[in-house]
Amino acid sequence: MVRKILKVTDPLLRRKSKPVKKVDKKTQAIIADLKDTLTIQKDPEGVGLAAPQIGKLRQIFVMRYKGEPKVIINPKIISRSRGSTKKREDGKKIMEGCLSLPHYYGPLLRPDKVKVKYLNERGDSVTETVTGFEAQIIQHEVDHLVGVLFVDRLLEQKKPLLSVSRADTR
Ligand code: ZN
Repeated sequence: MVRKILKVTDPLLRRKSKPVKKVDKKTQAIIADLKDTLTIQKDPEGVGLAAPQIGKLRQIFVMRYKGEPKVIINPKIISRSRGSTKKREDGKKIMEGCLSLPHYYGPLLRPDKVKVKYLNERGDSVTETVTGFEAQIIQHEVDHLVGVLFVDRLLEQKKPLLSVSRADTR
């Protein structure tokens, strides 16, 4: 079911999500809602959506990057590279945004390689190393699960938050 995406000022987005104990029917229902809600977003399109953004404080997110939506449960980032991603594979500068704050973006730098361990939607344990834009998405979504938003990271890096019109002209 398509859910309402909570806005950046919603206090729920500041809470920590609980780990999923079992990938049961309740978990599958949250996953289905996340997929439905993410795939319908067109203005702007989204590349990731975390359970707290639809009001469920569970460590689950769905990302959509090159193909089918990927489900990530109880993620743990095991290691991060020192270097950061400046450009996407298509050569565009990475501008990070969030469906909870549509039409605003910022040139946020994050480590460009992370090793992450998580459960997939069947409950299997997966460990993988991801790079570039995909690594950026995962770090953004993992932040959501601990109540951190990308605007906090922009402030840490003293980077500007740009509205879509300005971001587009860059
Ligand atoms: Zn977000």
